[in-house]
Amino acid sequence: MQTQVQKESIENAIEQAKLFGILKYLPDGELTHAPFSLSPYSISTSDLQEMIELTPYFSELMINVSQDWGFLDETLSPISKTDPFLKMLLDLREHEVSQSRQLLVQRNDFFLIKDDIGKGGHDSSSSGEDTSASALRQVEINTVSASFPFLITQLTRLHQHIFEQIIPNNPLKPVVDSFAKAIKDYGSTDAIMLLVSQPAESNRFDQLGLEQLLWDEYKIQTVRKTLTEIYENGSLSEGHLILAGKKVAITYYRAGYTPEDFSTSCAIKGRQLIEASSTIQVPDLAMQLAGMKKIQQVLTRPEILSNFVSEEISKRFRKTFVGMHSLDEIIETPEGEISASEWASINPEKYVLKPQREGGGNNYFGKDIPKKITEMKREEQDAYILMEKIKAKTHQAILVVNGKVEKHTSVSEIGRFGICFAENGVVQSNEDVGYLVRTKAKNVNEGGVCSGFACLNSLAKA
Ligand code: ADP
Ligand code: MG
Repeated sequence: MQTQVQKESIENAIEQAKLFGILKYLPDGELTHAPFSLSPYSISTSDLQEMIELTPYFSELMINVSQDWGFLDETLSPISKTDPFLKMLLDLREHEVSQSRQLLVQRNDFFLIKDDIGKGGHDSSSSGEDTSASALRQVEINTVSASFPFLITQLTRLHQHIFEQIIPNNPLKPVVDSFAKAIKDYGSTDAIMLLVSQPAESNRFDQLGLEQLLWDEYKIQTVRKTLTEIYENGSLSEGHLILAGKKVAITYYRAGYTPEDFSTSCAIKGRQLIEASSTIQVPDLAMQLAGMKKIQQVLTRPEILSNFVSEEISKRFRKTFVGMHSLDEIIETPEGEISASEWASINPEKYVLKPQREGGGNNYFGKDIPKKITEMKREEQDAYILMEKIKAKTHQAILVVNGKVEKHTSVSEIGRFGICFAENGVVQSNEDVGYLVRTKAKNVNEGGVCSGFACLNSLAKA
C-alpha cells in the first residue's frame, strides 16, 4: 500500500509535470499530464557512451542513403505496387525541386538486452531488476517527426528535482538552434518556420515547446498548418513557399508520415506545393524514405551497408542489429532452410511483423503474425518485413498515467536525438543532442507515449 508520503510526492510530481508543460490531450479533448515514470532507468557508462558515439554515424548513414535515389527507388518501388501510401510518396519526387541544403533531426531507438557473452553482473530476478551486463539493440531510426524534444527535456528537469544521478538531457535547445541556423542559412530575414501538423494532435505541447523557444531565443515565428491548409493558404513566389504573407524558410514535418495525413487530394497537393518550393524540408523526401523499415531491413545485409559506411562503422552498427528479413527470404533455422514467413508463423513470439508505417500501432505481434501472413496476398508480402523480437532487460517501474499510479515490471526504450546538416549530401555538422526514454510494462508490445502505451522517463547513472 502506498504511504501518505508517497501519495503526496506523487501528487506533487503530477502538479509539477503540469507546471512544466508535460501535457497531452486525451481522445475526448481533455488535457492531462503526459504519462511519465517515477523510476529513472539505470544505464552503464559504456552503453551510454556507445549510443552517443553511434548517433552521428547513423545520421550520416541516413544522409548517404538519401543521396542514393537509385537504391531507394529499387528497394521501395516493388512495395509501391501494393502500398498506395508509398506510391504516393515516391511519386512526390516528380514535384520535387532539389535543395542543396539538408537538415536531419532524427531519433534512433534502442533497447538494452542481457549480454549473452556476459561481462559479469548478475540477474537478481527476485527483485525483478536485471543487473547483468547488457548490449544495445536497435529498434528503428526515425527520420521524420522525431518527437518529444520538449516533453523529455521538461521531464528530465522534473526528475532532477526528485532524484540524484539523473543524466543531464536537453535535446530541445539544439533542435531549436538547428531550426534557427537553417532559417538563417536560407537567407531571408523575416522568414518563418512552417510546422506541418495533423488535424487532431494529442502531442501538441511537444510542438508548442519548440515553437515557444524558437520565438523566445530567435524571434522567429512558426506557422502551424495541416497539409490541406497549406494547399488552401499557401502559394509559390519566385520559388519560395509563401504562407501568411511570409517566406517559409523551413518546413518541419510533424505529420505526413501516415496515410491518414494524405486522406484528401488537397492534402497531397499541399505536400506537392511544399516539394515544389525552395523551403528546407526537415526531413526532405529522400531522408523520409531512408527511414523506412524496408530500408532498415535491407541495411542489415553487410554487403549493402558497406555501400554507405566504412567497414569499421558497419561492424559497430551490426552489433546493434537484430535479424530482419523479407517474408519470402529463405533463412537457416533448426528445422532446416525455410522461408522467414513460415518460420515466423511457427514462432510468432520471436518476431515483429512491420509494414511501411510510422507513428505507432501498425505492427503485428504474437498470434496476429501468422493470422496476418495468411490473410495477405502474395504480392502484398513485399510491403512487410519481419524483425526478431528484442527481449529487453526488465526493471521495476512506478508509472503515472492520467493521474493514476501503477507499478509494473517494465522495459525501457532509449532514443538518441541526432542533428545533422549537409550540403549536397556532404555532412557539414553532425552531433548527438540528447535522449528520450520510454518505459512501458513488459507485456505491452507497442511503444507510443501519446497513444498511452509508454511513459516518459529519464536515464540515471548505473
Ligand atoms: P513505429 O514507427 O510505429 O514507431 P517501431 O518500429 O518503433 O514503429 O515499433 C513500435 C514499437 O513496437 C516500438 O516502440 C517498440 O516498443 C515495439 N517494437 C518494435 N520493434 C520491436 C522489436 N524488434 N522487438 C521488440 N519490440 C519492438
Ligand atoms: Mg518507433
